[in-house]
Amino acid sequence: MSSSNYNKRTILVIEDDKSISSFICTALQSSGYTVLTAADGVQARQMFASHGPELILLDLGLPDIDGVEIIKGVREWSSVPIIVVSARGRETDKVEALDFGADDYITKPFGISELTARIRTALRHADRASGSGAPADDIVTVGDLTIDIGKRRVTLGENEVRFTAIEYKIVSLLAKNVGRVLTYDYIIKEIWGPYASSDNQILRVNMANIRRKLEENPAEPRYIVTELGVGYRMMEK
Ligand code: CA
Repeated sequence: MSSSNYNKRTILVIEDDKSISSFICTALQSSGYTVLTAADGVQARQMFASHGPELILLDLGLPDIDGVEIIKGVREWSSVPIIVVSARGRETDKVEALDFGADDYITKPFGISELTARIRTALRHADRASGSGAPADDIVTVGDLTIDIGKRRVTLGENEVRFTAIEYKIVSLLAKNVGRVLTYDYIIKEIWGPYASSDNQILRVNMANIRRKLEENPAEPRYIVTELGVGYRMMEK
């Protein structure tokens, strides 16, 4: 093994479409990752068990096993980040995948810069969670927006932004997961508890108020974007 292989992070790409798989492989290798591939669920489980990759890129539509079953299987004993690759218009699949423990999703067709940005975010969150990376950020900065989680203080440029307690909980939850999509259901359970109604009307009302306070143009938000039919994401910059 050449020394350039040391310290490279290993990504398992589970994808049955050969052309997509080789496109992703080439791009990730040139971004400095070691890439393993599996073309179906059975092979994916073998590769995962024998190589212990640091991240999984999972196509939900596999010929043998439903992608969600792979997520459930992996999550029984591993918190390795999983990014789901899904077709446009399959929002319920994405939500299901996220709720079963996928970390993020990317919609086909996607660009390589978007894919590598998602991968970096997922790896960074995994490093923090395992304690091997930097300690969890107490201060999250996105453009002119600063969320000081330790001090419970939000500023936009020079000005402090005043939120209700619920609004602040939502903003700080998104900030702690900056760059990642959080599903409506996940947010509702985190904010209002496990027995809250899954009707997201109250969440939408709070988000409208948050955006009025944060966004120059609430109809085209820069800081907290809607992932249609899935949830919300605080952008990284
Ligand atoms: Ca497929």
